[in-house]
Amino acid sequence: MITDDNAALAVQGLTKRYRPEGAPAVVDLSFTLPRGATWGLLGGNGAGKTTTIAMLLGLLVPSGGRILALGHDMAVDRFAALARMNFSSPYVALPHRLSVAENLMVYAHLYGVPKPRQRIEELAEQLQLTDLLKRPAGELSAGQKTRVALAKSLVNRPDLLLLDEPTASLDPDTGDWVRSWLERYRAESGCAILLASHNMAEVERLCAEVLVLRAGRVVDRGSPSALLERYGRDDLEEVFLDIA
Ligand code: ATP
Repeated sequence: MITDDNAALAVQGLTKRYRPEGAPAVVDLSFTLPRGATWGLLGGNGAGKTTTIAMLLGLLVPSGGRILALGHDMAVDRFAALARMNFSSPYVALPHRLSVAENLMVYAHLYGVPKPRQRIEELAEQLQLTDLLKRPAGELSAGQKTRVALAKSLVNRPDLLLLDEPTASLDPDTGDWVRSWLERYRAESGCAILLASHNMAEVERLCAEVLVLRAGRVVDRGSPSALLERYGRDDLEEVFLDIA
C-alpha cells in the first residue's frame, strides 16, 4: 500500500479559484503518484493542467487542499521538496542571451549541484547538446530549446519531474524524439513523472495511469488502455480533449 510519506506526490482536495466569484480552475483534485511512476494529467484547453502544475511547484497558492511532495507538506516545507523536484515546459523561455552552457550553469548553481561542469557535460551528451553548449539560447530551434529545457530540469537529478506539454509546438519528428527520450529516461532513472498533456497518443506511450481533467475536475481515470476501451479513441478525443 502507498502511504503519503513514501509517495512522490500525495494530493488531497486540491482546489484553485482565481477569483472568488468565478468558476474554479481546479476542483477537489486528489491522487497519489507512487515513487518512480509516470502518470498523465490529460485535458483540453482550460482543463486546469497548468494551474495544477503551478500549485504543485508552489508557484500558485491553492484555495484549498493539501500537497505532500516527496513526503514534504508544500504549505510548510516546500523548499525541502523543491530541492528534489524539477519542472520543464516549452512555455517558459530560456534567458536568450546566455549560452546553453550558461543557462544550465545557472540552474546547477541554484540547486547546488556538485561538480556542475561534469553534470552539464553529461546532460549535454544525453540530450545531444554537446555541439550547442556555446550557442546563445535565443538562436536555437524549438526542438533544441526543448532539449535544453529538459537538461535544465534534470540538472539536480530530481526524484519528481513535472512536465507541462513537453512536446507542444514541436514538429512530429522532434516530438517523437522527445517522447522516445522520455520513455528511456522514465525506465532508467527511477524518477516519478507527472506529465500534463492534451495528446492521448503521448500519454498512451508514456503513462501507466491517467487522470482526465475537464473544467478543473477529474472526470475519469485509469490506464490509457482502459480509457481507450471505455470511450474509443475518437470519443475520448472529442469529449475530453475538444479535438473533433
Ligand atoms: P491550456 O492547455 O489551454 O493551458 P490548461 O489545462 O493548462 O489549459 P489552465 O491554464 O490551468 O488550463 O486554466 C484553467 C482555467 O483557469 C481556465 O478557465 C483559465 O481561463 C483559468 N485561468 C488560468 N490562469 C488564470 C489566471 N491567471 N487568472 C484567471 N483565470 C485563469
